[in-house]
Amino acid sequence: MLNPKKRSPPTLCVQGTHSQTAGPAVVPIVQTSTFVFENQQHMLDSVQGKSGNHVYTRWSNPTTKSVEEKISALEGTDDTHVVASGMAAISSAIMGLVKGGERILSSDSIYGGTVHLFNEILPQNGIHVDYVDTDEVADALLDSQEKYKLCFFETPTNPTLKIIDMKQVADAAIAVGTISMIDSTFGSPINQRPHEFGVDLVMHSATKYLGGHSDIIAGTISGSNELMARVRSAAKLLGGTMDPFASFLLDRGIKTLSVRMERHNANAIYLAEKLSQDSRIKQVHYPGLPSHPHHQVARRQMNGFGGMLSLDLDSDLAGTRQFVDSLDIFLNAVSLGGVESLASIPVLTTHYGLGEKILSEAGICDSTVRLSVGIEDATDLLKDLLAALDSLNT
Ligand SMILES: *Cc1c(COP(=O)(O)O)cnc(C)c1O
Repeated sequence: MLNPKKRSPPTLCVQGTHSQTAGPAVVPIVQTSTFVFENQQHMLDSVQGKSGNHVYTRWSNPTTKSVEEKISALEGTDDTHVVASGMAAISSAIMGLVKGGERILSSDSIYGGTVHLFNEILPQNGIHVDYVDTDEVADALLDSQEKYKLCFFETPTNPTLKIIDMKQVADAAIAVGTISMIDSTFGSPINQRPHEFGVDLVMHSATKYLGGHSDIIAGTISGSNELMARVRSAAKLLGGTMDPFASFLLDRGIKTLSVRMERHNANAIYLAEKLSQDSRIKQVHYPGLPSHPHHQVARRQMNGFGGMLSLDLDSDLAGTRQFVDSLDIFLNAVSLGGVESLASIPVLTTHYGLGEKILSEAGICDSTVRLSVGIEDATDLLKDLLAALDSLNT
């Protein structure tokens, strides 16, 4: 029999690492807060972790455990902890691994919520974060006099799809004894597997591609048993526990992850190529285009370039608003990674109110539109975008 952990990603997505046993074909939803024991001895054995039985759902739950095992196999890590949001994954990992007085190095192009956590909550706990340009993370680790406890980075980045060389950062972190942690949300475990390049901890907002249907909020954090033991203890106390029903929906979503990613990848590259030939668009940001500055790195470390792309229109903010309002199939919403296509304007949503300097460093202008390309028909999506462009001239 094939070692279940050696199954290919599409098989793991559908069946996880489970082997044939009699019983339900689908993971049951164990919707309970607490678990009953026959007697005090059994309860004590479980509390002391001797029996592997579940005691209380904030600590562990069978439905959640099942999806955790599936994600560990997909990421190639010992362990995964699934929590109630991407932000709970980031905060639990950092509170479990970094103490007051220690410092974090972070790439400067990261999710807005993470920036607020790093700038507002962590300093209250004596943890300080230094930021560095996305192209300089590895060098900054190697050159710094500072001993960083943890290095946090995100690739591909939001919304301009910059790519960071994962192996370079992982190697630098190993060389200086720093824990490396990636926000791999835009990549998905189908398009990139950072642990294979040596990155210690891999987190996802599973709200996005893993869940895939815009119907749950969830987060995952994966790594070695040693690191995850500390992350789990913190997560248990911080309390961002995943609900068993949401775990069920996450598991159900992951079943189609590999086929969804194939379509996301194909639709996005089709649109990126077509739109980059349109004179009404100043620039298309997509790592699958040979003109993208990090295309070669993306080819080395990704199996597909993902469903996220952004456009700089040859227009002003008013025209950009009109463009998005004219879209019919692309829905006007934040978030990403679901089956439905979404469009948003970063300066009015995810990057609202940020200063000129931060925006230009991130490569964002008033006419930048972020697209989360769904799994609808690619030619319908193109027609929708072209019709919205036509509306600007009338
Ligand atoms: C959405 C998102 C998060 C936050 O995840 P939640 O599930 O909303 O808590 C973190 N990082 C990235 C890249 C995201 O897109």
